[in-house]
Amino acid sequence: MPTILPPAPADAPGLSDKFGRQATDLRISLIDKCNLRCTYCMPADGLAWLPKSKLLTLEEITRIVRIGVRDLGIRELRLTGGEPLVRVDLTQIIAAVREEFPELPISLTTNGVGLAKKAAALAEAGLSRINVSLDTLHAETFATLTRRDHIDSVFEGIDAARAVGLAPVKINAVLMRGINDEQAPELLAWALERGLELRFIEQMPLDADHTWRKDNMVTAAQLRAYLEPRFILNPDTRPRDGAPAERFLVSTHADPQTILGAVGIIASVSEPFCADCRRTRITAEGKVMSCLFSREETDLSALLRDGSSDTDVAERWRAAMWGKPRAHGMDHVGLGSKDFVQSDRSMSAIGG
Ligand code: SAM
Repeated sequence: MPTILPPAPADAPGLSDKFGRQATDLRISLIDKCNLRCTYCMPADGLAWLPKSKLLTLEEITRIVRIGVRDLGIRELRLTGGEPLVRVDLTQIIAAVREEFPELPISLTTNGVGLAKKAAALAEAGLSRINVSLDTLHAETFATLTRRDHIDSVFEGIDAARAVGLAPVKINAVLMRGINDEQAPELLAWALERGLELRFIEQMPLDADHTWRKDNMVTAAQLRAYLEPRFILNPDTRPRDGAPAERFLVSTHADPQTILGAVGIIASVSEPFCADCRRTRITAEGKVMSCLFSREETDLSALLRDGSSDTDVAERWRAAMWGKPRAHGMDHVGLGSKDFVQSDRSMSAIGG
């Protein structure tokens, strides 16, 4: 039996929730499959992938974007996964959205494997920006973290993305204690030299193996302690405007006045920013997740497939978002709580 959701109040704008937030940033997962097996995300053997018939089609994805942008106040779109480059019609999806919404910022989060061959076509289709995930510069550490040996393909992908002008290329890095945490300064130096904007993301309890422990993750404070002997992190004074990353302008102790570039720190666990969250997520099979940590999900695919109107789809989406929890899947407290229960979905099955 599908859950009966109380509707969002008629006078609540767009994708509002009962805590006064409004989602304007849409993240759609295009596919749950991935070609890496990052230890903080997927099990070594992968997961039971969705059959193709369950994945949202190009038409369903563009319809969701249309309803979101036209009717519900969505102002930006991020395509993710799983690994979105694995989706064969990725370029067509971007082109279809771009044709309908020439001004909409469309970004992609990818592990960069095989990106070199596709970067030009993605840019031409209308992709605005790209985030490539890379946690280390060392082949051995990369293989330990991802259980695959594709680091060269990722480097080539990053170079190709820069060459076709998908600027600024952002790099997402997760630090794991005892594996790559001490590599944080060299990763930042490498990114600054290339004009890439590195963003460190705290490891969240979204691994399929459920091995995350709060006392074993690398916090933003610990990361800053790794970086500060080599770099000065000057807080960026521009308003954060709902961005998950706290941004710093980076200089060195030898030359504090010269800003070499920027670094972002996404402290979802130790310094959560739920009060300012503007995100709504749709999984690869068409479920709304109002929060990354939510254990509730609301299916849109049945409505998309049974002839329901755009208004029906919009109202169900609004109802799902009206029920968005205050923090990390819960209304009263967040990840710090002893009654926090990790979702059965891994990051790859939600869409990071
Ligand atoms: N496959 C693509 C990629 O690697 O970027 C897109 C999907 S991946 C789930 C999106 C982002 O989530 C990546 O930057 C990845 O490092 C991050 N991620 C995955 N599991 C995470 C976790 N448990 N905690 C924090 N970030 C995580």
